[in-house]
Amino acid sequence: MTTPRPQHVAVIGGGFSGTMTAVNLARLSPAPLRVTLFNHGSPTGRGIAYGTRRPEHLLNVATRNMSALPDHPNHFLDWLRTRTEYAGVPEAELRETFMPRRVYGDYLRGLTQHYAKPVDPRAGVEFAVIGDEVLALEAAGDGARLRLAGGATLDADKVVLATGNEPPADLPGSDTVARHAAWCANPWLDWETRIPAAGDIVLLGTGLTTVDAIITLLALDWPGTIHAVSRNGLLPESHFKGVDDPHFPPASVDLATLGLAGLVRLVGEHCARLRTAGLNPAMVVDKMRPHTQRVWGAFTDAERREFIAKHAARWNVLRHRIAPSIHRQVAGALESGRLKITRAAITGVKPLGAKIGVELQDRAGATTLLEAALAINCTGPHTRFSATRSPLLQQLLSSGLAQPDSMDMGIRVEPDFTVVERSGQRSSFLHAIGPLLRGTLWESVAVPELRGQALRVAQTLLDAGAPAPAEAAVIEYQI
Ligand SMILES: Cc1cc2nc3c(=O)[nH]c(=O)nc-3n(C[C@H](O)[C@H](O)[C@H](O)COP(=O)(O)OP(=O)(O)OC[C@H]3O[C@@H](n4cnc5c(N)ncnc54)[C@H](O)[C@@H]3O)c2cc1C
Repeated sequence: MTTPRPQHVAVIGGGFSGTMTAVNLARLSPAPLRVTLFNHGSPTGRGIAYGTRRPEHLLNVATRNMSALPDHPNHFLDWLRTRTEYAGVPEAELRETFMPRRVYGDYLRGLTQHYAKPVDPRAGVEFAVIGDEVLALEAAGDGARLRLAGGATLDADKVVLATGNEPPADLPGSDTVARHAAWCANPWLDWETRIPAAGDIVLLGTGLTTVDAIITLLALDWPGTIHAVSRNGLLPESHFKGVDDPHFPPASVDLATLGLAGLVRLVGEHCARLRTAGLNPAMVVDKMRPHTQRVWGAFTDAERREFIAKHAARWNVLRHRIAPSIHRQVAGALESGRLKITRAAITGVKPLGAKIGVELQDRAGATTLLEAALAINCTGPHTRFSATRSPLLQQLLSSGLAQPDSMDMGIRVEPDFTVVERSGQRSSFLHAIGPLLRGTLWESVAVPELRGQALRVAQTLLDAGAPAPAEAAVIEYQI
């Protein structure tokens, strides 16, 4: 039995995931449809990642793998060709280029504009963008009623939650520095205007957001010392050129049946083989990518917890690699002493006059205090779903319209992205995609996964029959 096509779809969140859901609904709907995209907090179409205004912030995925549309793999590449500055770049070079993220934001913004303000009067889809926060949802008739921060309410037949990444979790003592001029709790808000003339800047974390901050400080020629601190002290690795390794995964092995211990053993063997051959073992991580969601789905929760505790830090630096030019700049800063990495647990932050004191403890238990003229919390998106700071997500949890996934990393969904209510029932109107599915899928954060989700959820809502065809696996490293 087919479900009736929805008349009005509300999409909450206007970053990549929500925008592309709305765009897919608009371009694929065979019949008249109303789509309303709600967004607040970061620029519509661009979201947090592509809302950056800094030209030195580059994509960490090459152009060839950044199409927003799974069924048009060269869409971003072709769009770049419409810009004078890229029109003459040889194809092979452009495919492997890591574009400025703000250029990618222009691309997404352009797609939004094309469908939200169509010049073709025959367009059958009414696509509205509302710049307001959705505070609450309740069931109303066969659909939902949305309550907005501005006071308005709006009814929809179906709702897609695409609320994206939350700012980093608080650190011990965050409350004591919350209003301090030298404390930045959200690394994605412009902090460049607050850079001190002298003193040290301390970046809490050593992941991708930290790299963004380092690159900006270098671009601004900031003369002081940059400290980056994390428990493992691991910075992201660089993209590289590799070979088409046919030995991993072995044809006879289904990675999803191995369990964590078996997988760790197999991956370890293949990494050792590649190292012996003088090749980069990160190729194994790339070649696992088409299988990762299935592997994660087959793990028990105990295995998932063990993976996070023992392997996730190493996985992340190999998996979320950065553009070689960015890596070279970071390496140069390390060599010159402008950047210092400290391997320690961050045990607290506290006010220290005009500075922030960052308390650290190393593995041997020794404690130190870094004095920061500016301290930026770059510890990555907050992921404990039950402690979400989003009023909307809190309301969904408290009203029973949603529940956390079994890892409490995001929202519980069915394989077709339908939200599961606290009662265990499938929601009749609510779907979720994007980083909210991290606990269910593990890999649910970068464009190569999110574009497929945005297409599949649109097809489900349009009852478009055949699901989105599986994309051909793209190997991230360059061959
Ligand atoms: C700094 C950074 C750089 C990245 N670089 C890359 C990259 O180079 N390549 C790559 O593939 N991936 C990259 N990523 C991964 C990135 O998460 C995804 O590519 C993508 O941007 C996520 O989009 P999203 O729409 O799911 O979430 P977000 O970008 O977080 O957007 C969600 C939007 O919804 C809004 N919102 C939330 N709640 C509500 C509400 N209740 N009402 C209204 N609006 C709401 C938010 O304010 C925000 O505007 C990067 C991520 C970050 C943080």
